Amino acid sequence: MGPARRNWAGNVRYAARRYHRPATVDELRRLVAGAERVRAVGTGHSFNRLGDTTGDLVSLAGLPATFQLDRDRCTVTVPAATRYGDLAARLHAQGYALANLASLPHISVAGAVATGTHGSGETIGSLASAVAGLELVTADGDLLTVDRASDGDPFAGMVVSLGALGVVTRVTLDVVPAFDIRQHVRLDLSRADLDAAFASAYSVSVFTDWRAPRLREVWVKQRAEAAPLPADWLGTTAADAPRHPVLGMPPQNCTPQLGVPGPWHERLPHFRLGFTPSSGEELQSEYHVPRAVAAEALAALDAVADLIAPVLKVCELRAVAADRLWLSPHYDRDSLAIHFTWVADAAAVLPVVAAVEERLAPFAPRPHWSKVFGLAPSAVAASHPRYADFLGLLRRLDSAGKFRTDLLDRYFPR
Ligand SMILES: Cc1cc2nc3c(=O)[nH]c(=O)nc-3n(C[C@H](O)[C@H](O)[C@H](O)COP(=O)(O)OP(=O)(O)OC[C@H]3O[C@@H](n4cnc5c(N)ncnc54)[C@H](O)[C@@H]3O)c2cc1C
Repeated sequence: MGPARRNWAGNVRYAARRYHRPATVDELRRLVAGAERVRAVGTGHSFNRLGDTTGDLVSLAGLPATFQLDRDRCTVTVPAATRYGDLAARLHAQGYALANLASLPHISVAGAVATGTHGSGETIGSLASAVAGLELVTADGDLLTVDRASDGDPFAGMVVSLGALGVVTRVTLDVVPAFDIRQHVRLDLSRADLDAAFASAYSVSVFTDWRAPRLREVWVKQRAEAAPLPADWLGTTAADAPRHPVLGMPPQNCTPQLGVPGPWHERLPHFRLGFTPSSGEELQSEYHVPRAVAAEALAALDAVADLIAPVLKVCELRAVAADRLWLSPHYDRDSLAIHFTWVADAAAVLPVVAAVEERLAPFAPRPHWSKVFGLAPSAVAASHPRYADFLGLLRRLDSAGKFRTDLLDRYFPR
């Protein structure tokens, strides 16, 4: 969080009366126990007021930096505020990897997991799906430890928490042996070949601008041991120089391309740690629909392409595997994620967001919890089969509404 106490995009000024950076978990526990209203903040990369509070805003970046790799269980336990980029470099040095990463490594583990953040890969789940355990400070200041093996179904309700169940202090994540990736950018994919593109590599992202029927760029991230793509892959051509997904932005901000093999954490994100991710001046929205209706959902958006294109920097299509996490946008369904990087002009963007939501309504779209959306609370409740269970958990763990925000009150009435 910058000194202006705004989010990364600058469109949200936090309303908190006080800011804290506890140095120990005991200090945090006393703070939470004594607070009337409190929220945790990670690296502030969310685009809406989900992470805001009128009370106390707490950054956990001052807690001791620990790193516990358990080679027998294939997990790593890290402090909540750890950035994925820092964790990845450390894991890689020990011969391990995470199965996937988001487009940027700048975000905190707890903040990303709390909102269901994901990368792409039709057989790989979101970053939240790799969570094996959590430690959190609950409303009364107690320290609660939960894990996937012993806490089963309720645990599945606590991972994508929207920060509403407590302040997470440590997260345990599944790890896999380190691997290498080759990243190629291909140009001009036919929409009819979208499924084939997703199926052809470990992680595939497709970029479009809603100005042409063909999809402008495909970022193909292949395991290094996979057979190279044929020259005429799905009727596309190979980019002959590195690209940035947002036209006009410097490719140096992006991870290496042109098929040069390299470590997983230096290829799976599109953007490099230490450089501005995306355009740096933008709003974002994202909707998740079942993969099975991907073609119909995209065809429905064609009707509003002339509204989308003028306020769009780029649109990214990704595939995400189903998981069992109650509030996950990918709960129980393999998903197509339709992401919009908008211009940084809320007045121009919000009517287009409403038009997109209206066109996607027949496909039960689930919003990305940390991005700009305006779906009706009834629609959000209806598209999340475990909504009522989460509401029960929320009321039980935070009966006084200590972790609540206006946005949570709108979507999860008391
Ligand atoms: C340029 C850019 C690119 C992005 N790319 C992707 C992408 O590829 N895929 C994707 O899915 N999303 C993407 N996002 C969205 C981003 O992943 C989410 O907004 C994520 O939540 C950001 O993590 P953060 O640490 O900044 O969280 P914050 O914005 O700080 O917080 C998010 C939420 O988590 C809660 N929280 C944070 N820390 C804790 C804690 N310790 N305990 C309990 N609750 C906590 C907060 O209260 C808040 O509700 C992108 C965002 C940007 C700005």
